Amino acid sequence: MEAVLDQFAIRAHNNGGFDGIAHQLTKGQEISSFSPVDARLIAKVTTATQADYQAIIQKAADAFLIWRTWPAPKRGDIIRQFAEALRAQKQMLGKLVSYEMGKSLVEGAGEVQEMIDICDFAVGLSRQLHGLTMHSERPSHRMYEQWHPLGVVGIITAFNFPVAVWSWNAMIALVAGNVTVWKPSEKTPLAAQACLQILSTVFKVNQVPAGVCNLVQGSGEIGQMMAADPAISLVSATGSTRMGMSVGQTVAARLGKCLLELGGNNAIIITQNANLDLALTGAVFGAVGTAGQRCTTTRRLIIHEAVYEQFVEKLKKAYEQLVIGNPLDPKVHVGPLIDQQAVLQYEAALVAIENQGGQILSKAGKLSGDGFESGCYVRPCIAAANSDLAIMQQETFAPILYVIKYKTLQEAIQIQNGVPQGLSSAIMTDNLKEAEQFLSVLGSDCGIANVNIGTSGAEIGGAFGGEKQTGGGRESGSDAWKAYMRRQTSTINYGDDLPLAQGIDFHL
Ligand code: NAD
Repeated sequence: MEAVLDQFAIRAHNNGGFDGIAHQLTKGQEISSFSPVDARLIAKVTTATQADYQAIIQKAADAFLIWRTWPAPKRGDIIRQFAEALRAQKQMLGKLVSYEMGKSLVEGAGEVQEMIDICDFAVGLSRQLHGLTMHSERPSHRMYEQWHPLGVVGIITAFNFPVAVWSWNAMIALVAGNVTVWKPSEKTPLAAQACLQILSTVFKVNQVPAGVCNLVQGSGEIGQMMAADPAISLVSATGSTRMGMSVGQTVAARLGKCLLELGGNNAIIITQNANLDLALTGAVFGAVGTAGQRCTTTRRLIIHEAVYEQFVEKLKKAYEQLVIGNPLDPKVHVGPLIDQQAVLQYEAALVAIENQGGQILSKAGKLSGDGFESGCYVRPCIAAANSDLAIMQQETFAPILYVIKYKTLQEAIQIQNGVPQGLSSAIMTDNLKEAEQFLSVLGSDCGIANVNIGTSGAEIGGAFGGEKQTGGGRESGSDAWKAYMRRQTSTINYGDDLPLAQGIDFHL
């Protein structure tokens, strides 16, 4: 770990000055980053004051005037080089992500792999930012559309994917010709510094103008400044629904654009026709991976009554085998929660479950003693619930898995859709009709609907996001790039007359 911290923390301490990047010496308060793994203080960074923020936005706006003129494939080539730099530093950066956020080593490295994947996607995209041509209704006219960059794209990210979510947004935004200003979570500032440190080496070699990629450290207040700032053309915000409500309303008040990626409350339906072994792996990984702190974490299992008892027994046995502890140890399945505040929320949810008539089926609670000194470790827990359990409507960002019994598929889909969030969903079945019904218009109302895989762990090739209180945004693959560009429709007259549209006759 020391080599990793040496690599990234020293420069973070004097707070930046990255080549080619307008992360300037900020003058705000210091925030400390403690690892939830062992409570060690791993870095201190200085937040941006309002004046620092203004200076960075100005620098970004100036850089946009240059960056937008660079051909998109040239921008793509710089992203290709960034992917190469990430490949070289994958283990180092992955380890830092694990240590600062608390996810397992493989998940930390997996997050960096996701960064590399989105870079590769963005490189290809840099030659495919194309629009349509349309047939004009007027003679000697041509009509087509093209896509231009928006300007400054603000990126606000959550603690649980401290590096990947930035890259999903930034790599696409950059090849599209935008410049970016990133406000990472105040709970994972060092991972953000590390990303820009790696990026700055690539920018320097390519003489990218300062201000193309920017970092502003700070709390939600900086995020609020971004939401209110007309200089930011698109605010892409990932985090809780509470944060998204605030950002969405502030951006709407200035008629700006925003892309919201908010909380989930994801369910797997396990039918009587499911392969139960496969369902078990999908459910357990989905529920306890990243200690239940993924937006796509499986929070509810809706199980057919014919297999309910059998499946819950399997689940309980699997939970007994889970190894909880230091996520840097490859034998560990479940690491810590991000901080003690998250532990309090987990404990409050356990109390609410019992008060509201749910039943806790596995060992549950905070862990203490050797190896758990940070106070952030909890036992993943299973709770039996009726579909009307009030606490189940909320996203508790911890490893609590509700199991609910159902009789008909229609009822299961109703329970699955009967929450305010709409991110990820899955059905486990070998029955084609059940699978197709789940995917049909009568089925899942989520942005992601899977068959025979769990709810968590999306690939970058698809558009990622969800409906209802998940915010409606889509980012990453497919045609999500369109959110980062403005569409312009152009009609060109190459004739000598001026025929008007809709057959309007107008003569002087
Ligand atoms: P959070 O909402 O507390 O914070 C997220 C980010 O928003 C942070 O950078 C924070 O400083 C900033 N912020 C907070 N209040 C703000 C405000 N009023 N205006 C502007 N910015 C503000 O979330 P968190 O605890 O860091 O992350 C967990 C949440 O994120 C969960 O709800 C999870 O489901 C969600 N999440 C969603 C996705 C997705 O793609 N849908 C991905 C990851 C996490």
